[in-house]
This record gives sequence, structure tokens and C-alpha cells, in this order.
Amino acid sequence: MPQDPSLDLLASALGRLQQNFAALPALPEPTPGSIRKMAAVLERAAERMADNLPYFHPLYAGQMLKPPHPVARVAYAMAMWLNPNNHALDGGRASSVMELESVREIAAMFGWQNHLGHLTSSGTFANLEALWIAGQLAPGKRIVASDQAHYTHARISGVLRLDFTSVAADDRGRMDIAALERELKKGDVGTVVVTLGTTATGSVDPLDRVLDLSREYGFRIHVDAAYGGYFRLIASSLDTAARSAFDAIGEADSIVVDPHKHGLQPYGCGCILLRDPALGRFYKHDSPYTYFTSGELHLGEISLECSRAGAAAVALWATQQLLPLVPHGEFAAALDQSRSAARKFYAFIEEDCRFVAPFPPELDIVVWAVKSVSIEESSRKATTVFQRAAQLDLHLALVQVPAAFFPPATWPNRPDNCEAMVTCLRSVLMKPEHLEWIEILLQKLDQATEESS
Ligand SMILES: *Cc1c(COP(=O)(O)O)cnc(C)c1O
Repeated sequence: MPQDPSLDLLASALGRLQQNFAALPALPEPTPGSIRKMAAVLERAAERMADNLPYFHPLYAGQMLKPPHPVARVAYAMAMWLNPNNHALDGGRASSVMELESVREIAAMFGWQNHLGHLTSSGTFANLEALWIAGQLAPGKRIVASDQAHYTHARISGVLRLDFTSVAADDRGRMDIAALERELKKGDVGTVVVTLGTTATGSVDPLDRVLDLSREYGFRIHVDAAYGGYFRLIASSLDTAARSAFDAIGEADSIVVDPHKHGLQPYGCGCILLRDPALGRFYKHDSPYTYFTSGELHLGEISLECSRAGAAAVALWATQQLLPLVPHGEFAAALDQSRSAARKFYAFIEEDCRFVAPFPPELDIVVWAVKSVSIEESSRKATTVFQRAAQLDLHLALVQVPAAFFPPATWPNRPDNCEAMVTCLRSVLMKPEHLEWIEILLQKLDQATEESS
């Protein structure tokens, strides 16, 4: 693991934090005995961490895992010495204000000045709040998402007792507009979930076309951009369809984005934005415990979760101070690099007769199959390459995708109209360093494939 200056930065930040409270009577220091015991336990904990993949390293190019920025790690650790709770101002005054400021900057990225929004512990919880509001606004109406939307939407709908329907995706993994319109014609759709960046393949649903339909049929639009939201900053460099979708994002009714996916944050940081601030009325409740110290808004009054890490807000605030969410800034440039890495990776796959990719990456996820006579054989080979690559320290992911994403001639004995799934290799190239490492990644993929055939 690279030596980074985090510990020195943390020591100075903590020193500054402690100055704030220097006037209080001193507390006892831990004894040398207790420090020795803690050291021994921490040694064992660090040892146990050996059973992990090297998520921080560019050779880890599998799932959606991006290391937090050092400034986020240090800010989080510094804030934890106080451990503020952003439920109520009584528990986290400064960190609540930092949360509101950071969320305002995320909303501004989507062109929103006036909104209701807050951080959550995850994208799942942020989506839960969006569908909870959706259900309150249109009781008895259905939630519709594509069959490539995150599985969380079907489950959340179940929790909220809302009827959920999934509609087909097209052969690029995007919501099929004709299939959506067939559902809309039934007249009972309350909300359509539009995914900007699906988790499996990074496909971008045609939000602009869903908006056209909403003018005709009248329904609410929730954008799940947990993974893809930040690509709004580089929309102008995306392919036409993805660009049109991202350009329209400000017209959605609610948006979810996960700072702990592409936003360089430690886990425990999702974000929900509602376009209409008046929707705060649904959250209204009294708390007999917490809301005394001020008449100002407490974040707990506009969120479903109660206790939340104030440290998450401090980390996000610090990161956005260092890397503002603006087009052409350093943060946006890093997204561009991820996308370039994905395109280079795809170009290699496309050239190589051992592989077949269903479509080029819209964002920074590449999916490809190992060529073979049958779907079963192809799936088996993908699994073998995945395992062999891991032995060579290249960590990829596996994903099940519909065989229908591939051209009909891909598998000579594939039945027509087949609904089979094929196991593919998948790589999320979301670290900015991936671009520099792409040759090494491809060389290892080549070796793993040779050695598994
Ligand atoms: C990751 C993801 C989620 C779930 O978010 P968590 O933060 O893992 O709870 C939902 N939707 C999409 C599109 C995602 O990529």
C-alpha cells in the first residue's frame, strides 16, 4: 500500500480540533498498559484484514470500489474524535451545516438551486426515501423500472407495499421505450425509475425520451444515478444518447447519487435530492428528545434515518472543497480518465478474436464474453479466466447478462428468442489510475486467457 501523508495530516487536523476545546478541564490520558493492549488487538485486526482483495490498487478492476480520497479519510477520522450525529443540531451543529452546503453543491451539479435533500447511509436508503415519497404522492399506483435497474427497487417497493413492474431493456441494457409505453397505456403507473448508469453494464436509460412520455401520460420520474450521477459533469464528452439523458437530469422529480461510489467517499454516504422543497411536509414529525436547541431545520426533520455519521458530511465537504464539482475541474478530469480507460479496454476486447463485447461502454464499465460455441461453454470459460486472472493479481468481476445483448450469431447454437443469461467478465474502471495501468491490465488479461484455454 503506498505510504501517504495521511497520518501527518491527521495529526495536524486533530491538533487544530483540540484547540477548539482547550479551555475545558483536561481528561485523563490512557495508561501505557491500556495502550499496549489496544496495540495488540489492532495488530490482530490488521492481520485479519489480509483476507481481502487489494481494493485500493489499480489491479483491482472488478466491482464498483473506489478508494476514498486521502482528504476524505483524514477529514472523516478527524471528525470522529467528536463523532457528531447529523440527526439533530444538538448532536452535530457544524457537520449539519457542512452537510447542507455539500448537498447544495451536488444539487447545483444537476442545475438545481431550490431543492430538498440530505445525505443518507447508502444509495439503497436514498432510493427508499424517493420511492416512499413517490408512493405517498400517488397511492395505489405502480412503480416501473427496467429489468436492468438495481434489484433494490423491487425490494424497496415490496417494503413499501407498492406494486412494482419491470420492463424490458433493449440490447444495450437501456430501458426499452416501447415496452415502457405499453405499461403506461394501462394508466396506473405512478413513478418511473430511470437509471443513469446501470450497475451491471453502466447503461444509461433514455431519460429525455421518458420525459417526453411523462408529458403525455403524467407520472413521476425518479432518477437512480447512485453510480452514474457524477458523469453529469462530463456529459458533453459522452456519446449522443447518454449525453441527452444526462443533460435532462435536472427535469427529474428526484435524484439519487452515491458519493461513496464515484464521489471518493468512505462507505456510509448516499444522497437523495427532491426537486420540490415542499415535499418536506411528508417527513413532518415531532421528536420528544432532540429538537430543542434551535428553531432552525434539523436534518432529522427531513430524513427517514435518525442517527447518521456527521463525519460523513465533514469528509464530503472537505473533498468538494478540494475538488469542486464543476465541469473541466480536476474531479471531472478524473471521470474522463476512467472513461478513456474503459474505451481503451473495450477497443482491445473488440480487436481480440477470443472475446466478444455486446456494446461499447457508455460510462466506465466494460462487459465482455469469452467466445465459444455455446452459452454454457462461454459462461464456464469466463469463470475460468476470472479465476486465473485473480491468481495473476488482476481482479475482475463476473456478471450475468441476457444473451440477447449479443448479436444473434455470437453463439452458433443459440436458440432464437432466447432468454438465457450468459456469465460475462466485467470490469469497473473507476479509479483515475486505471488509464495509466491499462496496458498492464490487458497484458494480464491476455495471459490469464491464454493459460485458461
Ligand atoms: C449501488 C447502486 C445502488 C445501491 O446503492 P448502495 O449505496 O449500495 O446501497 C442503487 N442503484 C444503483 C444504480 C447502484 O449502482
